[in-house]
Amino acid sequence: MTSEKSYILTEKCKRCEVCPPIQACPSKAFYRFDPDYPPVVDLEMCLGCGTCVETCPHKAVILKKPA
Ligand code: SF4
Ligand code: SF4
Repeated sequence: MTSEKSYILTEKCKRCEVCPPIQACPSKAFYRFDPDYPPVVDLEMCLGCGTCVETCPHKAVILKKPA
């Protein structure tokens, strides 16, 4: 298990109407409250699998160690 977690680059996020990482995340850690804002990640639930990085079409998601 990696210690890296999903991190959303909010300046790159296009606030897409359909956000593929939300559907693709295996632990439901990637979600959003409001479509007008970027999604958020529940770091407790995030597995660090990188699926969100691969499925965001705008390269707005990276993996990194939490601060
Ligand atoms: S797919 Fe990527 S750019 Fe689009 S809303 Fe989701 S995180 Fe943001
Ligand atoms: S790294 Fe994996 S578990 Fe964590 S938010 Fe992305 S898809 Fe979900």
